[in-house]
Amino acid sequence: MIAVYPGSFDPITLGHLDLIGRASRLFDRVIVAVLRNPNKMPLFSVQQRLEQISLSTQHLPNVEADSFDGLTINYAQIRQAQVLLRGLRAVSDFEIELQMAHTNKTLSTQIETVFLATSNEYSFLSSSVVKEIARFGGSVDHLVPPHIALDIYQCYNHNSPMLNPITTQAIPLKSMPMETPPEMLHDQQV
Ligand code: ADP
Repeated sequence: MIAVYPGSFDPITLGHLDLIGRASRLFDRVIVAVLRNPNKMPLFSVQQRLEQISLSTQHLPNVEADSFDGLTINYAQIRQAQVLLRGLRAVSDFEIELQMAHTNKTLSTQIETVFLATSNEYSFLSSSVVKEIARFGGSVDHLVPPHIALDIYQCYNHNSPMLNPITTQAIPLKSMPMETPPEMLHDQQV
């Protein structure tokens, strides 16, 4: 059975890759299909995204990257796929995804939409979140593969990944109790 996993993948994240890995064990072939969407201003070109996906999935022999435009269902038919694969992160995804699945069913009764629930650890993760963090100088090393993190840092002009800053309130020394040991004073200032 062939599954098409359509999306923007701008860029592909560890959440997408977790889903692709699990789908590759369920289906004979998984086609990760980048939608060429003229209405969106992407961070990466379609070609860059295809390269990022291919590199990230090279350990999965039954996964391929491709791009398409127009209706997803038409593309799935051309690729002789039986399944459209989508991920569900939260209830907020569900409404729009269900609407899309119903719409696609009116276009082809032969193709089923299959939803995979995201793994818990990635349920907050989206390409937009990754871009937002990077735009403000944060590290995205824990959200995307290393080669994609480098691509992103290049786009936002910071070459070396930075630690995500955690804002802490400095406690004025004069407000510390006198008996506070010196090592604790040090901890408070870090
Ligand atoms: P789209 O523009 O179609 O939403 P995306 O690239 O954002 O494209 O997402 C493609 C698919 O991947 C969607 O089905 C989306 O629900 C799913 N997805 C996005 N992020 C995650 C994640 N963290 N875990 C699992 N699935 C995800």
